[in-house]
Amino acid sequence: MMALEIHQFGYDQDNYGVLLHDSDSGATAMVDAGNAEAARAALASTGWQLTQIWITHHHGDHTAGLRDIAAETGAATYGPPGVHGVAHSLAEGESFVFTGRQVDVLATPGHTLDMLNFHLASEKLAFTGDTLFAMGCGRLFEGDAEMMWASLTKLMALEDDTIIYCSHEYTAANAAFALSVDPDNQALQRRAEAIAELRAGGHPTVPTIMALEKETNPFLRAGDAAIRSFLGMDSAPDSAVFAEIRRRKDSF
Ligand SMILES: [Zn+2]
Repeated sequence: MMALEIHQFGYDQDNYGVLLHDSDSGATAMVDAGNAEAARAALASTGWQLTQIWITHHHGDHTAGLRDIAAETGAATYGPPGVHGVAHSLAEGESFVFTGRQVDVLATPGHTLDMLNFHLASEKLAFTGDTLFAMGCGRLFEGDAEMMWASLTKLMALEDDTIIYCSHEYTAANAAFALSVDPDNQALQRRAEAIAELRAGGHPTVPTIMALEKETNPFLRAGDAAIRSFLGMDSAPDSAVFAEIRRRKDSF
């Protein structure tokens, strides 16, 4: 089986959409459908025929183009129950098939209660929506810190060389915040420099890799001794340390 081809495209202010394509079968999936025009342009530029749409959560910047694109392409629609236009409702632990590959569904509530992430173990690929960002995590609009920490812990159980696609280009701002709570982390310092160079050149910083996130993303590092000491929370539970990091980011 050939590796999937991947086409990432930007839309709206700082959103990323992704197309996945199997050149053997011609099948193509799109993660989220926040902007119908951008999706049409991405399909036109690749020449790929859309066969599936995977929705991560109900927010408009992930769903606003869903009904139009599904109607125009006839693509099968997968996602959380309650999202208008999703035909196949999914929940934690379920899976479905994309062109011979198993797609595992991980429920990662916190940013919203309905958040789903998609994992293709065969390709070491994960689509983390607005749960895990490069050096960041989603704001807690519907869930609480304990819930989000459990969701991030679930993602951290994926293999270290898993490639992570997330839904926003927030990385430069996330790097500045990360340095404010983890100032002596040399891997973080190096990465912040690399991110600044990428952004100066107009390049995306997504996708990322789980191992790099574990080294540099403060929201995955609530158990790290240096961060705990920096926050004066040496003996607090990990979820409380995470909550404090999230609280600081909200007002950074
Ligand atoms: Zn969202």
